Amino acid sequence: MGRVICLISGKGGTGKTTMTANIGISLAEQGFSVLLIDADVAMANLSLLLGMQSSPITLHNVLLGEAQLGDAIYDGPKGIKFIPSGLSLQSYRRVDPEKMVSIIEPLKDSFDFILIDGPAGVDKTVLAAIQASDELLLITDPTSPAVADAFKTKVIGQRLGKKAIGVVINFVRNEKGEISESDIMKMLEVPVYGKVPEDPEVRRSFMQEKVMPTVLRKPSAPAAIAMRAIAERISGKKFTQQVVEKKESIITKLLNKLLSIFKRK
Ligand code: ADP
Ligand code: MG
Repeated sequence: MGRVICLISGKGGTGKTTMTANIGISLAEQGFSVLLIDADVAMANLSLLLGMQSSPITLHNVLLGEAQLGDAIYDGPKGIKFIPSGLSLQSYRRVDPEKMVSIIEPLKDSFDFILIDGPAGVDKTVLAAIQASDELLLITDPTSPAVADAFKTKVIGQRLGKKAIGVVINFVRNEKGEISESDIMKMLEVPVYGKVPEDPEVRRSFMQEKVMPTVLRKPSAPAAIAMRAIAERISGKKFTQQVVEKKESIITKLLNKLLSIFKRK
């Protein structure tokens, strides 16, 4: 049974979409099967970040009963699967977010991780994204409005019976005036899953001809390293293990190939 984790913040622009794409790809690189869902119905941009602009059938079409779920699932980088969002404002009003729960539930059997890119605010789309998840990962920046909004979101989650497993502090500059990691932990009463520095490479990932999340485009960037570490924290699996496994699997593949030639003779 896969884990459904909603990346959510209250405040807009804290890096939910950035984290969903990069942590999702990192989990896939660790060997997990991963589905990313863009649940930010109004500001859908996860597909842009994944470099997948042409995804005509979306979560909305499924929510409106216009399309089958299978037709809205696309292949993303590193073997991830992806359900895009995005629709005209008019049809947006007709969407029943409550349906999301019933859409996601049967998918749990097919994936190790389902990451939901949540919307900002507290409207019914936010409630739907939270309701459709099992766990919440709060995304904040080290300023008081963002931390306050993350706290409100955590409380909303609690009321819906969903636990916040941790918080990611994004846009860290280590400047005077930033709220410290320990203070954020005390305020939100959840462990800090990672601190991601403000890093020009994150924005640069958008500016290339081919848009590509930072963990793929620039794996050595400080933000990429931090986001991979968050994926490790979530899964409890170290990346070094994966590298070893990869080596073995290449050797195993070669061996099998050789053996098959021998067997044929
Ligand atoms: P949200 O989904 O919460 O609205 P986004 O992931 O879209 O936030 O991020 C908002 C903007 O900030 C984007 O332009 C993104 O590229 C940029 N950004 C996110 N995280 C970082 C970071 N660690 N360093 C620099 N820019 C970042
Ligand atoms: Mg977003």
